[in-house]
Amino acid sequence: MRSKLFYMLLATAALLICPGLLPSEEARAYTVKNSKVTIYEGETYPMDFIVSDADYMEMRLLSSDRTVSTPTKDGALLGLKIGDCVVTISDRKGKRDEIEVKVVSKADIHMVALTLDDGPGSHAMELLDYFDSRNVKVTFFMIGSDVGKYPKSVQRMVDEGHEIGSHTMNHKQLTAVKEDRALAEMEEGAKAIEEVAGVPVTVWRPPYGDSTEEQRIAAGVPTVLWNIDTLDWKYKKSDRVAKEIINGAGDGNIILVHEIYKTTVEGIKKALDKLCADGVRFVTSTTLLTRDGTPVEELIGQKLFSKKIKKK
Ligand SMILES: [Zn+2]
Repeated sequence: MRSKLFYMLLATAALLICPGLLPSEEARAYTVKNSKVTIYEGETYPMDFIVSDADYMEMRLLSSDRTVSTPTKDGALLGLKIGDCVVTISDRKGKRDEIEVKVVSKADIHMVALTLDDGPGSHAMELLDYFDSRNVKVTFFMIGSDVGKYPKSVQRMVDEGHEIGSHTMNHKQLTAVKEDRALAEMEEGAKAIEEVAGVPVTVWRPPYGDSTEEQRIAAGVPTVLWNIDTLDWKYKKSDRVAKEIINGAGDGNIILVHEIYKTTVEGIKKALDKLCADGVRFVTSTTLLTRDGTPVEELIGQKLFSKKIKKK
């Protein structure tokens, strides 16, 4: 076995040969992006959520509950206590800033599930860019016969943490066709989506919200309906879509929109610009429906419209 000294000498030699491994003399001074931030219990926040251009090797964090840490790019705000605190950021060059951080407990998060039906369509990429910029997670209820047309969009949905739901194969009203046909529509839809997405669907939504109890159980995943219907398909006006989303964004609500209309895409952006700034957290259907600790298995077979919980 080689001694510790051997490795120390090796490391020193490496630094002499490659001085780039040493903390740089030209360390970049950081810039504060947000001096007041809200973070939610159980979520990871990378440091570049609050600062940019930072040299993380040079930085220190001190929170008002006296914990000290050297931040990393990937998640320095973990471990803060629930409530308000001040985090002091400093670097070795003497730059120093104070950031007000509000840590919100899981039970107190104002959560809303935005659900997008009838896609994927030609606006999916634009929506995904927008959701990414806002750290918003949504649920896509997709039509099995359309997923093959937009494989890149579907892959991004998966990679970026959105929930993949089935809206059946051909959007037939399942209570108006024979039971074996209905079950085939459900099965084929889920299979087509899973083939493109590479992951199993975790929720489903029957077209027009119509399903029998047998179908809901056979689906094997929760049947997610909605309690806020924006009727976006009817009037196709972005201002009205925005208004319906804003007015419908009460805690625990499930909002229905259709991703295939340009006016809906514009309405979503207008509404979420405001709601995200107000602290509303957009989460997937499963995150919302299990927020009180209900296991997913218990949700199967039920008609799920929303998830309200009593707040302190
Ligand atoms: Zn639909």
